[in-house]
Amino acid sequence: KAKEAGRNTRDYFNEDMNEDSRKRSLLEQNMYKALERGEFYLVYQPIWSTDGQNIESVEALIRWLHPERGTISPLEFIPLAEESALIHSLGEWIIQESCRFVKQLRTCFGEAPVEIPKVSINISSAQFLRGNVADILNRELAALSLNGTDILVEITESALMMDQKRIYSQLDNIVSQGIDIAIDDFGTGYSSLSYLKKYPVKRLKIDKSFIDDLVTDKDDQALVSGIISLANSLSLKTIVEGVETQEQLDILRQYGSPMIQGYLLAKPMTDDLLLDLLKSRLAQV
Ligand code: C2E
Ligand code: MG
Ligand code: MG
Ligand code: MG
Repeated sequence: KAKEAGRNTRDYFNEDMNEDSRKRSLLEQNMYKALERGEFYLVYQPIWSTDGQNIESVEALIRWLHPERGTISPLEFIPLAEESALIHSLGEWIIQESCRFVKQLRTCFGEAPVEIPKVSINISSAQFLRGNVADILNRELAALSLNGTDILVEITESALMMDQKRIYSQLDNIVSQGIDIAIDDFGTGYSSLSYLKKYPVKRLKIDKSFIDDLVTDKDDQALVSGIISLANSLSLKTIVEGVETQEQLDILRQYGSPMIQGYLLAKPMTDDLLLDLLKSRLAQV
């Protein structure tokens, strides 16, 4: 009887697995079509100086507007894309589209007496491992006569731990184009401070998970203030992600965090809305 129960459980399990993998491969096939049909788009979230005066950069974040399912989160489809070759065409599209937007910003505000925000692009570890991402960036910047200093590149902490030689040479090439590199999700991987010395990175993005309980959790306070002062003394810029409340912001000001990103100041928005926001701020100058 026990045997029977065991087999039943396993059958259920297999059915679930099959159902799950069917859904995944369907989504994966759909993604190829979606890219051709133009169902992906980028939204942009401002990254502010901590005094809230300046939008220093904007992070490009991908969305999928699925005809039946509506908007699908990158947390759902980026990991799937990373399991197949799709991440390469998708990643290339993300770079092209981000650069197109950089060009639009330059065209719109080039004459204005303001600093134009840099556009920060998330690059998947799979793209770094393939080894051609530096060339793609170079090509796209050149095609639109843009400078490396117009964009930023975000690499996750976990990607830094992979094929270190290959990652290093990509980063080195990217930096030589004048592009600053940020370590994304800092503190969530197996952080090793030696990476800060080894790789040519200029920025750390402290993960939202350290900020959620910042107001009450003494450990988070110690970690976040420690990371910020360490980064400051190494001349690395920190960006704190996921700032949602005024109390959190007040604490981060005390700690001397130079930049913040979060719903408190702005959610990710479409290119049109971001242009409107920048125009309205310009009108106030
Ligand atoms: P990430 O790169 O760490 O991006 C920050 C995420 O935090 C974004 O989620 C952003 O919307 C969210 N966020 C920012 N401020 C707040 C806040 O105050 N509260 C809350 N609850 N969330 C906040 P999003 O857009 O869903 O992206 C999730 C992740 O998907 C990204 O994390 C990144 O790992 C990946 N991703 C998104 N776009 C791209 C892309 O173009 N390429 C690649 N390779 N990955 C991407
Ligand atoms: Mg990011
Ligand atoms: Mg992040
Ligand atoms: Mg994150």
